[in-house]
Amino acid sequence: MHSAKYGSYTFLDLDWNMVIHQELVQSNEVSSSNAMELEGLKRGLQFFEDNQVEVASLVTDRHRSVAKYQREEEDLNHYYDVWHVAKGVTKKLHQLAIKKTCSEVSARSKSISNHLYWVAASSQDPEEVILAKWLSVANHIMNIHTHDSVHYPKCQHGDLPTTGKRKKWLKPSTEACEKTVDIITNIGLQRDITKLSYHQTSSVEGFHSVVIHFAPKMTHFGYKGMKSRLHLAALHYNENAQRAQSRCKDGRERYSVKFPKHKKGEYTIVQRNLCNQHRICVFMFV
Ligand SMILES: [Zn+2]
Repeated sequence: MHSAKYGSYTFLDLDWNMVIHQELVQSNEVSSSNAMELEGLKRGLQFFEDNQVEVASLVTDRHRSVAKYQREEEDLNHYYDVWHVAKGVTKKLHQLAIKKTCSEVSARSKSISNHLYWVAASSQDPEEVILAKWLSVANHIMNIHTHDSVHYPKCQHGDLPTTGKRKKWLKPSTEACEKTVDIITNIGLQRDITKLSYHQTSSVEGFHSVVIHFAPKMTHFGYKGMKSRLHLAALHYNENAQRAQSRCKDGRERYSVKFPKHKKGEYTIVQRNLCNQHRICVFMFV
């Protein structure tokens, strides 16, 4: 994540679900604020190399400079984090839905984002199948469930209820529909869809909210203050990451529904852990 002054880069081990390294880059250290993200990534990878830590695969967001680096460094197994990709698509759909003529798009944005997560979960499939699965949603939103593709000829959801409360389909040739299809079929997005990470990336979203808690975006901190807050967020996250999930009497795992502010009224499902009091570790940075 970055503000005008800093770019912070956090490396999370997805198998351990633990923060293992952090870099904080100041905007005056690089040529432009755009370059901070890549600089953080490069410094982190150098740190691992210097410490003989082998990086088997790397999952990042779709920042343009990082994507370019990914194309150049062919021996790096590089994937995109589905949470970041879904966030980008949802943002575009929300911006579109603000237009009076396109307001019906807002009812569709959650299901399009869910579809993206579903596509990512099947990312062991060949690239053509992954892409065809993703593009099928451009038809689905118009109530078309058979597709002009040998790789994914029809939706897998079966018969849909025709009565009761259900979202309206988008009408073909309307501005709302055409612009939504443009967002789904964007060439850059199509290229990246085949590189979605199949890892459980809810940890990335979890860590993001911990950082916001310790370093609210609206407040500016000095370099040391920012670095300390990042370390605090990492220690807090690592202390709490391994807690076991609580269960109902019949043994089912417990979840809660939350409505985080950044999701603008949309929900997120979080697992309920055994102890609701977070274990906070206090760390002084001198
Ligand atoms: Zn369908």
